[in-house]
Amino acid sequence: MNECLFCKIVKKEQPAKIVYEDDKFVAFKDIKPKAPIHFLIVPKKHIASIESEKSEEVAKELISVAKKIAKEKGIAGYKLVFNVGREGGQFVDHLHLHFLAGKPVQLP
Ligand code: 5GP
Ligand code: ZN
Repeated sequence: MNECLFCKIVKKEQPAKIVYEDDKFVAFKDIKPKAPIHFLIVPKKHIASIESEKSEEVAKELISVAKKIAKEKGIAGYKLVFNVGREGGQFVDHLHLHFLAGKPVQLP
C-alpha cells in the first residue's frame, strides 16, 4: 500500500506530463503552475523532505537534473525551490525541487 502521490506519478499510476526521466529521477509539469514554466523534479526513491536523513546527497543530484533540463530546453534562467515542512509550504511529503522559469529564450 502506497498512498504517496509522487510515488504514484513515478510508477505511472497517476498521470502527469513528464518532461524528463532517468533511472533515478522524474521531472513533470506542476498541475497548478506558479510560473510560465513550472516543473517538479523528484527522486524515484521515496524520501519525505530536505529534513530527512542524507537528503543533501539527493538534493545535489536534483540540482544536476535541473541544470540538465535547463540546458536541454534552452532555459537561460530559472529558480530552484525546496519547500520544507508545512510551515515552509510543503504539502506533498515526497522530496521535490521546484523548477520555475519564464518563457524559454532562444540561445545564441
Ligand atoms: P509543495 O507545496 O509540496 O512544495 O509542492 C507540491 C506541488 O505539487 C504544488 O505546486 C502542486 O501544485 C503540485 N501538485 C499537487 N498535486 C499534483 C498532481 O496531482 N499532479 C501534479 N503534476 N502536480 C501536483
Ligand atoms: Zn513518495
